[in-house]
Amino acid sequence: MISIVIPIYNEEENLNLLYERLVKSSPTWGDDYEIILVDDGSADRSLAMMRGFSDRNEHFKTIKLSRNFGHQAAISAGLKYAKGDAVVIMDGDLQDPPEELYRFLAKWREGYEVVYAIRTKRKEGFFKKAAYKIFYRLLGWVSEIEIPLDSGDFCVMDKKVVHTLLHKMPEQNRFVRGLRAYAGYKQIGVQYERDQRAAGEPKFTFSKLVELAIDGLLDFSTFPLRMATYLGFLIAIPSFLMGIFFVFHRLLDFKVLGYSPQDTPGLATLAVGLFFLSGVMLIILGIIGEYIGRIYKEVKRRPFFIVDELIERDKQEPILK
Ligand code: UDP
Ligand code: MG
Repeated sequence: MISIVIPIYNEEENLNLLYERLVKSSPTWGDDYEIILVDDGSADRSLAMMRGFSDRNEHFKTIKLSRNFGHQAAISAGLKYAKGDAVVIMDGDLQDPPEELYRFLAKWREGYEVVYAIRTKRKEGFFKKAAYKIFYRLLGWVSEIEIPLDSGDFCVMDKKVVHTLLHKMPEQNRFVRGLRAYAGYKQIGVQYERDQRAAGEPKFTFSKLVELAIDGLLDFSTFPLRMATYLGFLIAIPSFLMGIFFVFHRLLDFKVLGYSPQDTPGLATLAVGLFFLSGVMLIILGIIGEYIGRIYKEVKRRPFFIVDELIERDKQEPILK
């Protein structure tokens, strides 16, 4: 069986089309399937519509989360309930076309355990495109694992990879595409053209995207911490040399660029140095703080999603465990 996990957050404009296109392309998948829609605390009619799908069609299951936990957490929730031998992750706004899925599944059947999508053309604004590009290059540069360039969450994973993600990687900050790369196994990228969102506004605001980018960078790298050390040396060593120079300048009283030590009050140098160094130190404190915040979040061990209800045909049971 194939499980398709789709996080849904206020997608009422897209759901009917999503349903239609999924059902229409399902014969090309060559296997029995289940669609797991994860309602990530939608405030519009999404949940009611998903209940309708589950009533109408036994392939459609809905997991209602107790509130909005975010895209990555919603995906994790879906993975937990997926029973398939292969599990697909895709977006609910039809940016990842269901019609393309059979190509990914073919690769899985060839024996690849992770088949991830690589976006060829992004039909997004110039600024967003540039930001993504910079982010992926930066991530590739600083992270200890190799996260494929321009790969998103859209992928097919073998059930053993899903098992690894769920049970061997218990971290709270879930940057799924990073965890997936970390898991290893036999991976391959398949190119596809990422469509524009079918309708509605992106649910990711710019600040949420920045947050996701920071998660990606910090969860898979301690480079920023090391950068603080490098920066410290970079500033400390010249300062030390400068100190020695000033001592000799004062003692030997020679002129440099027309200045003798007597007529250089040095206020500007001091002020600039002070502000610069304070800035650098605050940035470094911030970086350390980011990591401490993450440690704090990890040690609390709070669930990163809470399932309120599991909706299937003929079975609507609230979770009371
Ligand atoms: N989404 C979600 N929870 C959120 C934000 C988004 O489940 O807090 C879902 C959303 O409904 C969509 C998918 O995640 O199916 C991707 O969201 P979006 O299209 O806004 O992101 P983008 O395509 O811009 O990365
Ligand atoms: Mg989208």
